[in-house]
Amino acid sequence: MSEMDYYEILEVSRDCSGAELKKAYRKLALKYHPDRNPDDKEAEEKFKLINEAYQVLSDEEKRAVYDRYGKEGLQGQGAGGFGSANMDDIMDIFNSMFGGGGGFGGFGQNRRDPGQKYALDFEMELTLQFNEAVFGCEKTVDIRYKTYCRDCQGTGAKDGKMSTCDYCGGQGQIVMRQGFMTFAQECPKCHGMGKKIEQKCPSCQGKGYEIKEESVTVKIPAGVDSGNRLRVPGHGNESKEGRRGDLYLTFYVEEDEHFVRNGNDLYIEVPVFFTQAILGETISIPALKGELELNLKQGTKDREQFVFEGEGVPDVHNGRKGRLIAQIKLILPKKFNDEQKELLEKLQESYGVESHPHKNTFESAFERIKGWFKS
Ligand SMILES: [Zn+2]
Ligand SMILES: [Zn+2]
Repeated sequence: MSEMDYYEILEVSRDCSGAELKKAYRKLALKYHPDRNPDDKEAEEKFKLINEAYQVLSDEEKRAVYDRYGKEGLQGQGAGGFGSANMDDIMDIFNSMFGGGGGFGGFGQNRRDPGQKYALDFEMELTLQFNEAVFGCEKTVDIRYKTYCRDCQGTGAKDGKMSTCDYCGGQGQIVMRQGFMTFAQECPKCHGMGKKIEQKCPSCQGKGYEIKEESVTVKIPAGVDSGNRLRVPGHGNESKEGRRGDLYLTFYVEEDEHFVRNGNDLYIEVPVFFTQAILGETISIPALKGELELNLKQGTKDREQFVFEGEGVPDVHNGRKGRLIAQIKLILPKKFNDEQKELLEKLQESYGVESHPHKNTFESAFERIKGWFKS
């Protein structure tokens, strides 16, 4: 079997950025994680490869070595398996996917007993429109949750027959090294049981669970943003004891056509014709509550910002509103007719010497430069 290139494994280009890399890794790790692919040898191998590739490519030094000398160049640097300087990074990603804090309350509060084949909490992404996120809303979400297979009591094994897990050698955990530190983590394949299924349960094909569907109506607070996570208690997967875990909704907020959101602040670009900017004028601009009056002062500049306190997005935790920031985009005429041309020339003339600022500014520069070439 020929070795696959790390970039190919992560499905990224050779010049991809660190952020792109992380995104690609996240997507693939999520797809091939043993949790989601129980007893799938191919997924397991793929998962290991993805981790190996990410470990190398996410480390600038290792990536540089790999780019020049390939895998051979990394020999003796601990390229294979777990155990590199990027472990923190990888653990971060895993925590955000399968556990750890963040958003509204920690994910994975409902710990899984050994023998429980799937996590009781699970996460789902929910797309919101800009206005739904800003004002809050009620959403009905169709979910698919797991409940234990009645025929095998959730073990996934026909007649409950199990043998030693070969991923962890029956230890129930795998050990990772980072420098001189070692960390033990629950074996992702057997979930700490140290055992694997001898013969699959025919009803659930060894998965240990079946899927149920449910519609859940969720109240979403005003001010949520992309990446925020909301816990919906009691709508996660169901355990053998009939207890439901929690559902976690992670939001993705769509962009608005005019408003650009940065935290609780909103930005809006306001096109202003050059004569308006010079003369000054009061204009109406869109805001969350409707319209706002923007008082362009005389001589408003391109990219100048006007700040409206308390006209932004309410903070999801305390309701305090951010700012609306209107940024001017100066528009110059692209063409003009004869009459306009004449008017502009007249205007130019009326300013006299002031209409050629470059002349005064550069006068001394011209003299100095001449001096450089006299010798
Ligand atoms: Zn079963
Ligand atoms: Zn194991």
